[in-house]
Amino acid sequence: MAEIRVEHLAKRFGDFVAVRDSSFTVRDGEFFCLLGPSGCGKTTTMRMIAGLELPSAGRILLGGEDVTMRRAAERDIAFVFQLFALYPHMNVRANIAFPLRAQGVARAEIAQRVAEAARVLRIDHLLDLPVAGLSSGDRQRVALGRAIVRRPKAFMMDEPLGALDAEFRHTMCGELRALHDRLHATTVYVTHDQSEAMAMADTIAVMNHGVIEQLAPPQEIYDRPASMYVAEFIGSPSMNFLPCVRDAAGRLLVGGAALDLPPAPTDRGELILGVRPEHVRLGAAEGPVPRARVYGVEYLGTTQIVALTLPDGTPIKARTPASLAAHVGDAFGLHLAADRLTLFAGSDGRALRWGTGLG
Ligand code: ATP
Repeated sequence: MAEIRVEHLAKRFGDFVAVRDSSFTVRDGEFFCLLGPSGCGKTTTMRMIAGLELPSAGRILLGGEDVTMRRAAERDIAFVFQLFALYPHMNVRANIAFPLRAQGVARAEIAQRVAEAARVLRIDHLLDLPVAGLSSGDRQRVALGRAIVRRPKAFMMDEPLGALDAEFRHTMCGELRALHDRLHATTVYVTHDQSEAMAMADTIAVMNHGVIEQLAPPQEIYDRPASMYVAEFIGSPSMNFLPCVRDAAGRLLVGGAALDLPPAPTDRGELILGVRPEHVRLGAAEGPVPRARVYGVEYLGTTQIVALTLPDGTPIKARTPASLAAHVGDAFGLHLAADRLTLFAGSDGRALRWGTGLG
């Protein structure tokens, strides 16, 4: 398929800025997710790439060619915004063939491409059935088939799994990613669901009010979030944020107790320490460590989420083995994994540093 390059893309609707100076490259063969809450500009960005919306500024290159001013039909991009949008009075074969018929492709070529798409999607046995009676999973495969037969330069998918129940969504995530790999596709995928993005993407662009806050592979976004906004959006339960200060010796103080980290006499001012629940270990409430008291326990099978509060009322969650005995009212000492911490500036929420010692 083709590489997509977006340069300084912006979109205004009157005075409202929906997308602000966005630049990124989707490599040939990459699965790229635009992730963020409702209204952050994901769909508008995708619509501009597909040619359904004209940018207010910036350029879009498809396979090295500037397509910014080209109409959608001239871009050769398949837009899969609603996988259920099928023609109910047609059978599966006719639904998949529809875009090729509209393009005037020869009969034999259509038959061959439909057969190939059906084979890739494993729905060959359904070709002569009406779509009305199909399961939701098979209907989705038919809708995907309609996108695939066009052999487009890229796929744009806008919340395609939004209408499905959680378990089936999980299965379809795996199928979509496998399909992308099989077709050596270039895919831009819009979602507000961080777990979908984490499961499928090679690269995630986390958007906030029309701006890309962070552009990185899933693991980097998880381990080294660029801001508190990103850190909170990714991970479930989300990262804990603990207000802290450095004392005169450069030690980080949380809840009045110094953390067991090498002193680093920088970053004065308001600081927030970020730690994911799985990097909080609960130990005996003794020695010079921050203490916290349990106010809730959520049992999850192999693990549990223990919700605690520090003496100043700051909440913190720990993911622990379910075998750890923790009851409401119990006191624990908090041991934070030094190599997995993030330090944020309280002033603007940007990450200052990550990892051991935070020096
Ligand atoms: P959602 O998942 O809710 O669609 P999104 O991140 O995809 O969210 P967009 O659809 O890109 O967000 O919309 C971004 C902002 O631009 C929203 O505040 C929306 O109201 C606004 N917007 C989008 N299209 C138009 C339009 N045609 N006219 C005016 N405002 C618009």
